[in-house]
Order: sequence, then C-alpha cells, then structure tokens
Amino acid sequence: MTPEEFRHAGHELIDWIADYRSNLEQRPVRAQVEPGDIRRSFPDSAPATPLAPDQLLRELEQRVLPGITLVQHPMHYGWFPSNAALASVLGDIASSGLGALGISWESCPALTEVEEVVCDWMRQLTGLSENWEGCIQDTASTSCLTSMLLARERASDYAQNHGGLQGAGKPLVVYTTAEAHSSVIKAALLAGFGSDNLRMVAMDPETHSMRAESLAELVAKDIASGNIPAVVVASVGSTGVTAFDPVAEIAEITVKHDIWLHVDAAMAGSAMLLPECRHLWQGVEAADSISWNPHKWMGTILDCSLMYVRDVQHLVRVMSTNPSYLRSSVDDEVRQYRDWGIPLGRRFRALKLWYHLGIDGIESIRSRLRRDLENAGWFADTVASTEDWKVLVPVKLQTVCIRHEPPGIEGEALDRHTLAWVSAINQSGAAFMSPSMLNGRWMVRVSIGVEATTREHVEKLWTLIQQTVKKPIP
Ligand SMILES: *Cc1c(COP(=O)(O)O)cnc(C)c1O
Repeated sequence: MTPEEFRHAGHELIDWIADYRSNLEQRPVRAQVEPGDIRRSFPDSAPATPLAPDQLLRELEQRVLPGITLVQHPMHYGWFPSNAALASVLGDIASSGLGALGISWESCPALTEVEEVVCDWMRQLTGLSENWEGCIQDTASTSCLTSMLLARERASDYAQNHGGLQGAGKPLVVYTTAEAHSSVIKAALLAGFGSDNLRMVAMDPETHSMRAESLAELVAKDIASGNIPAVVVASVGSTGVTAFDPVAEIAEITVKHDIWLHVDAAMAGSAMLLPECRHLWQGVEAADSISWNPHKWMGTILDCSLMYVRDVQHLVRVMSTNPSYLRSSVDDEVRQYRDWGIPLGRRFRALKLWYHLGIDGIESIRSRLRRDLENAGWFADTVASTEDWKVLVPVKLQTVCIRHEPPGIEGEALDRHTLAWVSAINQSGAAFMSPSMLNGRWMVRVSIGVEATTREHVEKLWTLIQQTVKKPIP
C-alpha cells in the first residue's frame, strides 16, 4: 500500500468509525452470536489474492461487527467502563501511523520523553507527590506482576543474582484479600511465591475492605514462624464490589516491617482525578508501587495502565539487563523504559493520553466522572428505597451491587431468580450487566460510567429491570 492509497482508505475507515460510534445505541449491547459463529464466517486460509480496502471494510462490517459487545453503548453496565474516548483514539492512530520503535531512548527519544511528560502530568492530576515516577504498562496485570518481582527481590536481598527463590532459605509471603483481582493471585504465582505463601487477609463483612488488624496478626505469625513477609497488595476499588482497603492503616504495618506495598487502583484510579475522592486512598504516599488504568473509567483507549514507583533505582536494578547492542553514549542522561518492566519493545502509548488530555481536557473528563457518581448515587438510592430490593455494599463510586429478594425466595432459588432476570436482560441486548458472586450468592453489579450514559439511560435501565423481575421465571 502506498501512502496515497493509505490516505484514501484511511479517510473511508475514519468515516466508517465515526458512523459506527454515532449509531451504537441502535444495536444490541451484547454480541448476539454463538461460540464459533465468527470464526466460521471466515475462510479457512488467508486470501490468495489481495482484497481492495473497501471490500475489507465491508467484511469488517459484516463479519466482525456482529461479534463485538458494545462496551461504549449507553446501556452497557457490565464489568467496568471502557470508554475508548475518540480523542484518545486519534492519538492511538497517530502512534500506529508513526510506527515508532520503542526499545531504547535512542530508537525514539520522543517516545520516551513524551511518556515521562504525560506520566508526570497524570501524577499531578491525581494529587501524588513528586516522590513518584511513572511509566505506561499495557495492563494493571503487568504492573502487578512487575511490582511482585520488585517486592520479591527487595525481600530476598536480590536473590536473582545468586540462587533465586530456590536458594532462599525462608519462604517469602504475599498478603491480599479474597476481593483482590484475579491478576493479583496470578502475579503472586508467576513471581514464584507459591500458593502456600499466599495469605488471604480477613475483610470487614460490610465494606469488604481488608482488616488491618488481621493483616498485623498474620504478619506477626509469619515472622514468628521464620517466614519473610514480602508484599501486601491493597485494592483501591476492588473488582467485585469496588471495596477500598484502608491504605493508611496497611502502610503503618508495611513500613514498620519493611514489606512492599502495592496499591492496585486499576478501576478507581480514575476517581483520584477528583480531589474529593482522594480520601479513598489516603496514605498512598507510603506505598511502594501504584497502578491504575486510564483505559477504564477515565476512558483513554486500551492499553493504557499507569505504574508509579518511588524507588526507581531499585526498579532498574531488578529489571535491567543492558545488553551491549542496546547501549549508547547518552545512557547516563536518559531513561530506558525497557528497564521499567518486562517487554523490551513498547508502543508510543503516551500519544493517546496526550491527545485525550489535550482535546477533551481534564475539566470535561472530571465533569463526566462527577456525573457518573451522581447517577450511581441516584440509582443506589432508588433501588434501596424500593420494596424487595437491596443494595448489598455501600456505594463508594459508580458500581452498585444489587439483588431482588422477593419474600419466600432464598438460597439456591434466589440464585436462580437473580441469574434468570439478569440473563434475560443481557440476552435481549437491551442492556448489559455483570452477575457476580458475593459471599457465595449471586448478585448483579451495575457499573455506571460509559461516556454516552445519561441519567435517562439509568432510569431506563431501572424500568427495564423492574419489568423483567415481574415476569415469571422460565
Ligand atoms: C480491571 C482490574 C484489574 C486488571 O486490569 P488489566 O489492566 O486488565 O490487567 C486489576 N485490578 C483491578 C482492581 C481491576 O479493576
């Protein structure tokens, strides 16, 4: 493809995307396909002769579009808001078009330095002190794994330079709660801690936040048994119910015992753009690493996960290998982001944050977040004040966990009822919510925060839910 051909096909693609985004509301929220449908609609082998770009665009519409669950649809209340703000999409397109190679400062100085700039802007916008320095990882899962490795090496006095974990005499221990995201457990296992050394700290039964006293007890017990407490992962906005672990109380314990504290704020980090929400991670300055995803509620397009650390020297000492073919004469003066995580090559992700902040502007992003908080508050109040309905967890942000509990329906029958009404709505395509387990029983998470979701949409959802629960269960 020549640049001229690209220009023509690119304009058509952009027009198509703009139409697609304008007309989302007319489509079903959840992809109305069965497993294998999409795959079967494709030929078994790659095209033998070239296709014209407009033909591919038609195939994109016919073959691919039916297989997309529309998370930017105003009636999408599933998982978490994944807004893919169009301003950030432009930045992502710029990144692809520039085709920059991020393997060292030298391979694209702008890629490194714009990333430094936007990470620092985001630090300021979330009220973090100058003690933090950041980078953009692909996902919070990667940030968590990276932080686990940093914790492991600090607790083992750089065991990677001799026998690794196999040479460590004492087990290194990880602490989190059952509310933590599955990526936390995965990171602990991949980093070699072993499931025997993973402690699930007790939670407050109402708020589902980590109980700091229980953490202190477990740490004391491990120390007494000759184990080494290595890392605590605190959830700031847990996945299931958006619970907030008490970071300040946890940090008192981690600082005292020299335990790494990783703050997983993947979802709720967006709320820290609002000064009035920052009490939710009070004490965060005493943590060792923080990660959060602008690609969730804030709405920068995937993949965009910020990771901040305080001890950059330690980070680089653990992550750097520095082979000769990547060295250059300016190495002492520049940042090498390859030493900030696992991959060598990186995309120019900073451009989408820059575009998002530049075009939409922080104040409009903040107003949208505040609007979503108000909508969630309205929804929670309305549900809680309706007979036979419960809001199961105090609402701190934009996730509302609800259940319809009509008299006489309990236990497994209640589970069947919950799953029946939520599945009926999800399958209809009219709206989408995520059913989820809480204390062994099904409930429904209503995650509010799609850019296109207004109060009218939330009201429409509530009407739809009430109509659906009245229908007989098949
Ligand atoms: C979404 C989420 C994650 C995982 O995020 P990825 O970027 O997809 O890896 C981790 N922790 C919490 C609390 C989350 O909400």
